[in-house]
Amino acid sequence: MSFPHLLEPLDLGFTTLKNRVLMGSMHTGLEEEKGGFEKLAAFYKERAEGGVGLIVTGGISPNLRGRLAPNACQLTYSWQIGKHKKVTQAVHEAGGKICMQILHAGRYGYHPFSQAPSKIKSPITPFTPSAMSTRQVSKTIKDYAKAAQLAKQAGYDGVEVMGSEGYLINQFICSRTNKRTDKWGGDFAQRAQFPVEIVNAIREKVGKEFIIVFRLSMLDLVDNGSNWDEVVQLAKWLEQAGVSIINTGIGWHEARVPTIATSVPRGAFAWVTERLKSEVKLPLIATNRINTPEIAEHIIESGQADMVSMARPFLADAEFVNKAAADQSHLINTCIGCNQACLDHTFSLKRATCLVNPRACYETELNFTPTAQSKRIAVMGAGPAGMAFSIYAASRGHKVVLFEAKDEVGGQFNLARKIPGKEEFNETIRYFNEQMKLHQVDLRLNTRLDATTLQEEQFDEVVIASGVVPRKLNLPGFDDPRVVTYQQVLNGEVELGDKVALIGAGGIGFDMAHFLCEAESSTLQPEKWLKQWGIDKSYQDRGGLTQPEQSPQHKQVHLLQRKTTKMGKGLGKTTGWIHRSVLKQHQVAMQTGVSYQSFDDKGLHIEVDQQPQTLAVDNVVLCAGQESNTQLVDEMKATGLPVHLIGGVDVAAELDAKRAIRQGAELAIAL
Ligand code: FAD
Ligand code: NAP
Ligand code: SF4
Repeated sequence: MSFPHLLEPLDLGFTTLKNRVLMGSMHTGLEEEKGGFEKLAAFYKERAEGGVGLIVTGGISPNLRGRLAPNACQLTYSWQIGKHKKVTQAVHEAGGKICMQILHAGRYGYHPFSQAPSKIKSPITPFTPSAMSTRQVSKTIKDYAKAAQLAKQAGYDGVEVMGSEGYLINQFICSRTNKRTDKWGGDFAQRAQFPVEIVNAIREKVGKEFIIVFRLSMLDLVDNGSNWDEVVQLAKWLEQAGVSIINTGIGWHEARVPTIATSVPRGAFAWVTERLKSEVKLPLIATNRINTPEIAEHIIESGQADMVSMARPFLADAEFVNKAAADQSHLINTCIGCNQACLDHTFSLKRATCLVNPRACYETELNFTPTAQSKRIAVMGAGPAGMAFSIYAASRGHKVVLFEAKDEVGGQFNLARKIPGKEEFNETIRYFNEQMKLHQVDLRLNTRLDATTLQEEQFDEVVIASGVVPRKLNLPGFDDPRVVTYQQVLNGEVELGDKVALIGAGGIGFDMAHFLCEAESSTLQPEKWLKQWGIDKSYQDRGGLTQPEQSPQHKQVHLLQRKTTKMGKGLGKTTGWIHRSVLKQHQVAMQTGVSYQSFDDKGLHIEVDQQPQTLAVDNVVLCAGQESNTQLVDEMKATGLPVHLIGGVDVAAELDAKRAIRQGAELAIAL
């Protein structure tokens, strides 16, 4: 067996988990949709069939005040259990086990009736919570216990108590948010009484044979968070109170340290769980940026934890565990940690899905059923759009010939993967390559598709996925070879001097700045990465933070945009702040409201507030967006065959791989 430690059953005494894989809690947005629980049941069923040992649902509030948003899901009354039964039944029929997460948002509640230990607003929500009265604290504990009891009645195998990420329980534990003067505030023992009483109350209601996972904040990553002794002490009290498994929580949501983004090294926080291993007897779960069976196996084999939690990897691939068990980890669709279709959607109140797997959370809506009429289809371009179309159309039984002008597949993803911290993008290209082999896509590299080729072979349809080309600017001096495109730089076609101005501060402008500043990716050097973000493995201070290590400035970079709005405004909702922080660490000079004039031997001439300025730079790199590569569209249409446009060639504005892949998948279903 390839992953013997990961796939070994875990005996909890009263029940046995079939392996060491926990599918971590994710809010999908289906919880609040009309008819969403049927879709949710299908979503979890596929993951159970895919071999996950234990699933944890998205957070469900134990009462009205604890909801994350005004319409968020809550479990307080027996009439609310019906819809949950659909989920538990589906998972059990598939041979899986599932726990319901109980999450009280506290001051993170995005509504005016939020409650917290003290009346202190969080930096990431607009609402100031009211402070709970002593009676309300006791009532809230009872609500947790009632929610667990109802979860048991709904057929769940257990509950996970969300005690980390800065939610209510964390807010009670830490003095930064708990200034109470009654018995629920004061010294650590008093502040920690809240989670301990919750577990006591739950255990009393549900009996001994019901899983209680406690998600313990082991590293707060905020000032005045818990210190290590407090983490250990609380773990011991929770063990005594009857918790079955301790899961790891890393960082409050308001922490200014990335914890799950793609630039976080794989398994970067497993050391925290390992620290607790010798302190308690309970099984411990390691979390955060674990996305392959290899890293998961290593964590368990090396004794860092007893189980691993992976959440987003199960959006990317429901079959993750089965593929690992069948020694087919090369066929896994790996989560690249981009957050673009999952967390960014959740924070925009949209249904979560996955950039690399558009079927995630659309299990009842997006299905690649066998075609009744197999067609011969020519595809132009093996970027994300063309590759996605090809594998899905071929899986339906179409004969697909994929033409790619370059000597490799991937399109612009081949540029993206060269950015420090975006190494995971390699995995998507590997996955598509494997799928193309599996579904017998006829891939022709180094072959430009044109009308002649099209006419030489018999095709029924043509799909054009020729992507985008970088926008060039027609300004005085911009024909100088020192003015180059991001594509030329990332392809290694040009050498840049030490001082560089970047025109355009969209996703690619930010990426290019990072590329020019960081000579070696810190994502591939976990120890360096931890120091860069001020994470202290020796845990000297509360919250596990220390002074970040100064980043060297590889090149002197100016990042410019015409708009006067905040730099990076259009970047991902949950990742934009990380990109901005990285550029600040590297002292990139950012300038908004710029009007570009010309380039010559003195450098780049610009105007800001109608005042002329000259940036004495050696090079200018154009990151000024893209245009559709429509060169051959008319020629293709003239052949008389049905022609379909997907990805960047269809619409270049606001193009990203999420749209390109989804469009490819949707067309594959339509043909
Ligand atoms: P393309 O990727 O442009 O692919 C088109 C393909 O068609 C190319 O391989 C080309 O060689 C081929 N082709 C063209 N003409 C022909 C022809 N006649 N015959 C045969 N083949 C032809 N997106 C995200 O979602 N998240 C990110 O974090 C992200 N980061 C990025 C970072 C960088 C530095 C860059 C450059 C892009 C990034 N992107 C990101 C954007 C993403 O890569 C694009 O949105 C995506 O690649 C577009 O896919 P596409 O298939 O439409 O086109
Ligand atoms: P973009 O986000 O549209 O940014 C283009 C930039 O160029 C803007 O800053 C724009 O700002 C400027 N610009 C546009 N036209 C210009 C002109 N004529 N002259 C001068 N400046 C001009 O596009 P992108 O950065 O090329 O990225 C392409 C796509 O890839 C994006 O849509 C993005 O989704 C995706 N991507 C995503 C990520 C990610 O991390 N999620 C990373 C990289 C790329 P002003 O008009 O204000 O100057
Ligand atoms: Fe992972 Fe990105 Fe998919 Fe989210 S959208 S699950 S981060 S690959």
